Amino acid sequence: MVKRIELTLLPEDAFDDKKLSEIVELECDVNESDRYDFKLTKRSIDARSRTPVVNLLLDVYINETPSPEPVIKDNYKNVSDKKKVIIVGAGPAGYFAALELIENGIMPVIFDRGKDIRSRRKDLREIQQFSNVNPNSNYCFGEGGAGTYSDGKLYTRSHKRGDIYKALRILVEHGADPDILVDTHPHIGSNRLPGVVQNLRETILHYGGEVNFNSTVTDLIIKDDVILGVTVNDKDEYLADAVILATGHSARDIFYLLKKKNIYLESKPFAVGVRIEHPQALIDEIQYKQNPRSEFLPASSYKLTAQVNGKGVFSFACVPED
Ligand SMILES: Cc1cc2nc3c(=O)[nH]c(=O)nc-3n(C[C@H](O)[C@H](O)[C@H](O)COP(=O)(O)OP(=O)(O)OC[C@H]3O[C@@H](n4cnc5c(N)ncnc54)[C@H](O)[C@@H]3O)c2cc1C
Repeated sequence: MVKRIELTLLPEDAFDDKKLSEIVELECDVNESDRYDFKLTKRSIDARSRTPVVNLLLDVYINETPSPEPVIKDNYKNVSDKKKVIIVGAGPAGYFAALELIENGIMPVIFDRGKDIRSRRKDLREIQQFSNVNPNSNYCFGEGGAGTYSDGKLYTRSHKRGDIYKALRILVEHGADPDILVDTHPHIGSNRLPGVVQNLRETILHYGGEVNFNSTVTDLIIKDDVILGVTVNDKDEYLADAVILATGHSARDIFYLLKKKNIYLESKPFAVGVRIEHPQALIDEIQYKQNPRSEFLPASSYKLTAQVNGKGVFSFACVPED
């Protein structure tokens, strides 16, 4: 039997596996002779009242074994001799497009103007210490794109973004903390993100995809309004059955190229932001009404939205510090 239950608990109970087990047993009337297991499916902290509580949604399996979640990677087959699609950009969009192609039996060939994630780090040090910016390897360009240094907050206000849970599972299969599958505000963290990006690349290579660094796409090969391939570094031509542009919003040269080629471009409104820093203890006190905060509570964060003169103002991301 599988029972879905909702619990509202104090943090010291919700984050302690042993105590949580005892509460589940009581809640579901589990007998001594019963075998049971449970799976957390959602977790959120509600700090609106004086005492913060944790809301949990659990599936409890009584005398039944929970079936393991199928591994997405198990659906992949080697695609090295299949139809080719070129992907320009090895950022989040490019790598996820590559996995989707592999899942559909198509070979992705990726070109990125920047370097692999390890080599890219040296160029960031150059920026920080000596203000030398490599135009093809910096905070925006290189393996993982702007996403590599984005901190990996994974929540979205939009509900039209496709299978978000599948994307989270792919990230977990590549080294992200499984907590992202249940937390309301999933967050990978900048320390873990580079490893996840590197693992994504290894999966793409393992299943027969190609990843080429130091390869700037400088032209599109088009005949009779059909895209046939790309020119890389102003000299080498590569042909494929289709081309996916996943160059992000910093690739101005690509926008100019599309305009020059008379390809339809649509502008999007964009948001401009500022960075605001406050002491973590202050936010904990405001959110949890506790100073210092309980050892069972994670560092708090907040979200603000407002309309000012018809324009939306919102906090884009809050990075709590433990
Ligand atoms: C400081 C910062 C913090 C952020 N924090 C978050 C966050 O916490 N959560 C979140 O969801 N989002 C965050 N974002 C936004 C997120 O990083 C972007 O939405 C995401 O990276 C976009 O992915 P993408 O693959 O479309 O493009 P990008 O990440 O921009 O990747 C594009 C790739 O294309 C390559 N490229 C460009 N032109 C060419 C060319 N001509 N030839 C070959 N390769 C090319 C680049 O080298 C790059 O690797 C943050 C962004 C920044 C800058």
